[in-house]
This record gives sequence, structure tokens and C-alpha cells, in this order.
Amino acid sequence: MAAGWRDVVRDPAAVRDAAAVAVDAALLAGGLMRTGEQPHSSDVVNYAPFTLLPSVVPRALFEQAYAVQQDFNLLVDTISQNKEFLEQTLASTIKVDDFTARLFRIYMQVLEEGLAQTVFLGINRSDYMFDCGVDGTTALKQIEINTIAASFGGLTSRTADVHGLVLKVLGKTEEASRLLPNNPAKGLALGIAKAWELYGSQSAVVMFLVEEVQRNIFDQRCVENELWKRNIRVIRRRFRDVFEKGSLDDSRRLYMDGQEVAVVYYREGYVPQTYDQQNWEARLLLERSRAVKCPDIATQLAGTKKVQQELSRPGTLEKLLPGHPEAVARMRATFAGLYSLDEGEEGDKIAAKAIADPERFVLKPQREGGGNNLYGEELRKVLEKIRDSPERTSYILMDKIKPQPALNYLLRAHSPLQVSECISELGIFGVYVRQGQELVLNEAAGHLLRTKAIEHADGGVAAGVAVLDTPYLV
Ligand code: ADP
Ligand code: MG
Repeated sequence: MAAGWRDVVRDPAAVRDAAAVAVDAALLAGGLMRTGEQPHSSDVVNYAPFTLLPSVVPRALFEQAYAVQQDFNLLVDTISQNKEFLEQTLASTIKVDDFTARLFRIYMQVLEEGLAQTVFLGINRSDYMFDCGVDGTTALKQIEINTIAASFGGLTSRTADVHGLVLKVLGKTEEASRLLPNNPAKGLALGIAKAWELYGSQSAVVMFLVEEVQRNIFDQRCVENELWKRNIRVIRRRFRDVFEKGSLDDSRRLYMDGQEVAVVYYREGYVPQTYDQQNWEARLLLERSRAVKCPDIATQLAGTKKVQQELSRPGTLEKLLPGHPEAVARMRATFAGLYSLDEGEEGDKIAAKAIADPERFVLKPQREGGGNNLYGEELRKVLEKIRDSPERTSYILMDKIKPQPALNYLLRAHSPLQVSECISELGIFGVYVRQGQELVLNEAAGHLLRTKAIEHADGGVAAGVAVLDTPYLV
């Protein structure tokens, strides 16, 4: 283990002291979450789970991830404007996957009517793991791009200071000074503010479209507060509120409770369970409106696993981004093996391979939010069951990334302090704004490191599996 964290692990008394300091520092810094017992109130809160120690990340891979983010922003934005590509790519999926099909129907419906929206705002997070080769080298491999409701850009800004303090307490002042500051919420707010400004109505508000159960509200408040600092009004509403009180005027301006909405920032809307008939109607209303949706429905579709798999086919990136060979090469370098399970010979072959050697792959449905993927024996069982049915088409296969584990402590309220073998996932936030055809902003906005114990194959921070972390670059 680099940077001498090994000596820390050998000293349980020092670890206990440091953990107590760490938890209080996280609370003081605002690294907070509502509790599972009282998710609707901020009367009682916990600290958002985090690692005791920052995790070692190879500097070269960290820089590579930042360097490719503007390319991914451009790619997502380009796909969102390419109807033919989305139609072709998702054709097989929407036959069998109801959720994607419904999103797609709204997409087609708003295109047919003609878009009222002229300013576009993307906030995404490209996630990676550090794949460890047999020769011990590590490579940056993309897990996925989240194009809707990419979270923890607020809370993650709190962890570097906490980890700096922990390292000092452990006698590692020099190492503490090397931790990078990081504030994605500020960058995200900058994008939202730019979109709001281009929308061009001083009195219009930004609407955060939020969940029924809002445990992660503090993460969102970080972005909200950055907007208030710029004197931009923010309101928080649920789909249900939009159904009951949202309306469009003749030029399809969106109004909520009589206030014009310039930007709709979705922190909800990416899982089927969100939508009953009324909420689908609310979604349609929002998409039809002139308001800047972050993301618009096309961009949400651009973030599906099926699109990701198609992008890895030789020639696809080149076709989507002619004239950008360097960007294409940078993006392709981060791709892991991805495979279509569409009906036909190609799908038959890879399905057989995965059934024979399930440890090599991950089976992914068209879902977001963690906990949906299948691994190992379960992958084999499911794939055996669906290998000859059209249902197979609703999944993709991906090579399993195998990072080198490192020892750390996962600090979680009401959990015992114990050392775990952990792996990390690095996310880079991207923000862009387009007005008509012109990209007026395209930036990387900061990073998120999440770490989990190796016994969990899947799941993020919100799912209670991963915890917040800080990269320690070597
Ligand atoms: P979701 O949209 O549900 O977040 P992801 O593709 O990000 O789906 O997968 C969820 C989690 O599963 C990731 O955070 C990662 O921990 C794990 N995972 C996903 N793909 C792979 C892979 N190819 N190799 C290893 N682990 C993976
Ligand atoms: Mg994910």
C-alpha cells in the first residue's frame, strides 16, 4: 500500500482516535444525510458515510479521466441531437424494455411537436475503475456515464478537508497537504446559472425536480446555495406537484404556482418506480416546455447502457464525431469490452461465453441507481433462462473490471469500526451548455471518489454500499 497507510492499520488505538475526529469533522463540515428512519425531516441527521483514509489513486489515471471529460460532454450532447442514432440503437431495446420505451415515446412526441427548448444544459458524471492487469499495470476503464441526476457533487466537496485533518491527526502532515481541493457543486451551479441566464428571464426560477423521499437533500442544497449566492431563485418540487400545479402558456413557457421556470434540474426520474400515470404526464409536460431541462429526454436516453454498448463498436464514435479523431482516441482508450445481447449470432456467441465463464462479465439491464447488475452464478442463471428469449435484448454484457483492493475503514453511523478490503470508483463531473448549435460552455467540474468493500459487487453511496472518499494521488 502506497503512502504508508499500512502503519495506520497496525495501530488500532490511533485508528479509533482518528475515526472519532473524522466523524465530528464530517458533521461540522456538513457531510450530512437524513436518516432512514426520518427521511422527511432534518431534525435528526447522520453523517454521510465515508472512508477514514483517502484512497491511493494513480495520478496519471486521474489526469486521464479529467482530460477526457470534455470529449464525453461533446459526445453526449452530440448523441442527444442525433435522432437516427438513438432510434437505431434503441430499436431492439424498446421492444422489450417498457421503461426505455416510454421515455422513447415522449422523446418522439416532443420531436414531432417541435422543440420549444433552445438552450440545453448537461450535467453528467463519467465513472471509472482502475483495472489491474495480470502484469500489475493499471488502466482507467469507464463503468458508465450518468446523464441524469448524477449525485454527490455537493457532499464530496466536504471530504478532502476531513481527510486532511485525519492525516494530520495520524502524524501525516506532509501527506495531508497534498490532498486536492474539489468542489463540483460550484461547477454544476455555474452551468445551471449559465443556462438560466441564456433563457433570458430575470424573474424565472430554477426548479429542482426532487424525489418523494429526500435523504440526500444536503447534497442538493450545496448546489442550491451556490445558485442563491448568485441571486437565482430556486424552488424544489416533485413530479406530483408538477402534475397538480404545472402549466404551459401559449409559447410553452413553464409555470409552477404562477412562477415561470427557466431551468428544470432533475434529481429524480431515472427509475420506473417513480412513474405512475400522473407522473408520466408531468414528465411529458416538462419535456414539451420551453424550460431548459437538465437533462432533456434525449440526453437521458443517450445515457442508457444500450447506447454505451453501441458506442464501443468499431467505427461508431468516428461516425458520430467526424473531425475529432483525438477525442475519439481518448474516449476509446477508456472503454472496457461491451457486448450486445441482441438476437442473432453475435449475441448467441457472447451469451454462451458468459454462461461458460460468468466471472469474466457483468450483466446489465437498462437501469440506473445501483443494485441492478448481475454477477457470477446469478449472471449465469439469469442468462441461461433468457438466452433464447427476446428478453435477452434488454440487457448488455460488459467485461468485469478487476481493481487492486486496498485496506481502509468505512465509517458509517451505528456500524462497528473495522478494516475492510476496498475498491474505489472515480467519477468526473462534466457540465456543458448549448445555445442552438453552439456549445457555449464545456467543462470538467470536479470529481467524486466512492469506495466500497470488495464483497459488494454493486451499489453506490445512496444504496448504502459505497462511501465517500478522497483520492490521494501517487
Ligand atoms: P448504475 O447505473 O446502476 O449505477 P453501473 O453501471 O454504474 O450501474 O453499475 C453499478 C455498480 O456496479 C458500479 O458502481 C460498480 O461498482 C459495479 N460495476 C458496474 N460495471 C462493472 C464492471 N464492468 N466491472 C466491475 N464492476 C462493475
Ligand atoms: Mg453507476
